[in-house]
Amino acid sequence: MAEHFVPENLPTHIQHFINGKFVDSASGASFDVLDPVTNKTYATAAAGQKEDIDAAVAAAREAFVNGPWPKMKPRERARILNKIADAVEAQEARLAEMETFDTGLPITQAKGQALRAAENFRFFADLIVAQFDDAMKVPGAQINYVNRKPIGVAGLITPWNTPFMLESWKLAPALATGNTVVLKPAEFTPLSASLWADIFTEAGVPAGVFNLVNGLGEEAGDALVKHPDVPLISFTGETTTGKTIFRNAAENLKGMSMELGGKSPCVIFADADLDAALDSALFGVFSLNGERCTAGSRILVERPVYDQFCERFAARAKTIVVGDPHDPKTQVGALVHPEHFKKVASYVEIGKTEGRLLAGGGRPEGLEEGNYIAPTVFADVKPDARIFQEEIFGPVVAITPFDTEDEALELANNTKYGLAAYVWTQDLTRAHNFAQNTEAGMVWLNSHNVRDLRTPFGGVKSSGLGHEGGYRSIDFYTDQQAVHITLGKVHTPKFGTDDAATVAG
Ligand code: NAD
Repeated sequence: MAEHFVPENLPTHIQHFINGKFVDSASGASFDVLDPVTNKTYATAAAGQKEDIDAAVAAAREAFVNGPWPKMKPRERARILNKIADAVEAQEARLAEMETFDTGLPITQAKGQALRAAENFRFFADLIVAQFDDAMKVPGAQINYVNRKPIGVAGLITPWNTPFMLESWKLAPALATGNTVVLKPAEFTPLSASLWADIFTEAGVPAGVFNLVNGLGEEAGDALVKHPDVPLISFTGETTTGKTIFRNAAENLKGMSMELGGKSPCVIFADADLDAALDSALFGVFSLNGERCTAGSRILVERPVYDQFCERFAARAKTIVVGDPHDPKTQVGALVHPEHFKKVASYVEIGKTEGRLLAGGGRPEGLEEGNYIAPTVFADVKPDARIFQEEIFGPVVAITPFDTEDEALELANNTKYGLAAYVWTQDLTRAHNFAQNTEAGMVWLNSHNVRDLRTPFGGVKSSGLGHEGGYRSIDFYTDQQAVHITLGKVHTPKFGTDDAATVAG
């Protein structure tokens, strides 16, 4: 294998950022961070414990209660958000190489992440400036209006797939609406998150508004979830983790937004533009190394085109370029961490007992080290198979035939998840009806996964709780206080007098 690319000036130790300063854990605890190509430790990161979360929350709380951020005019905050976006864009190349190095994502796919992250800040800068709230009038009697207020310290807990971009999804609306935040990024991939601190400080975000605590989920994440001064938790990650967090947050009744796992169907009818469907189905499950929450990891194909589709899909899967994530020719890179590699590899073995292996099936030839799995295709997979039901989160796909539209729908809905669905057909009536009946938070018709930032993002069933995106994010991160004013005379029942019951309120 060619020499592995290592970005220049990588930190050897990654710290927290609390109250405007880079700091270590109070206890001095740290953990190792590996790169997924060599699986060697390239840095240590401070491992946040309860006392570090306490310090970060105290700083965020102080910045919320006494600092200027929540009280700024939307235009002032928007200017800062746009500066953040400019800085993110300006660092696109650096960010992409760091992200690729830390996560194993192919460099060509990491490049788009910075632009998308920047776009999130611009989008919410625009939204808060254009924001208006309801005022309702009962002529001559009452005016009611909505007073929209930031809520307080938002706890943001994020996963390791496209970490920087996913962090921006939460940071942008949380900060835009005037909250202060504590971000707990995923422990597998803390590298790019460390860039936020300087980006925010240079853009003019006051100290204490943005705080970052690295660490393990069960320690730092858990302390954040349980902290009484953190009224909001926005979490993206696995469904099982989401359930744990939900239970742990119950004691303090927090606002929760949960973006969880998926096992999304890609449904291809015989009348579809098969070339377009093929391109999309391949990209849908093998882009981002298959480590994508909205991956179309179950492909359902109508019987008349089933054999042809399987053959063409497998032939293309076999020619996908797997290799060093920094090589611009690479289409599938290295999985994020040896633990995750082990999990995906075990599903490949399970798949061999559950379906007909058409491509891949383990480590690609010539890549004996690193977390590489060849794009793996199983056909004739039955709906009760584990590889049909369980999220694998790697380059592994299950293909299943169907005979009727009803059967396709039953198969599509036959998992506990409900994040995304992709439908390919030339019959528009069928497409719209199928979308309506699919248990998924998001449906793409004759399209791969492209999303307008104004649309709701989120899943149903075990894929999530609540939708973010556009105004829904503004709603999540703000409280809509209702203010009521009486116009004219106040009609109050006169308790303590004889005519107490005679006047309606
Ligand atoms: P994960 O659940 O293991 O970890 C996510 C985050 O939660 C990490 O920061 C982790 O440290 C933290 N965490 C773990 N245990 C915790 C606890 N007890 N209390 C508080 N925090 C805790 O998920 P992952 O493996 O990092 O990410 C992959 C998963 O994320 C997949 O299931 C994928 O589908 C999902 N995902 C969903 C979306 C979406 O929008 N629906 C987007 C991306 C990823």
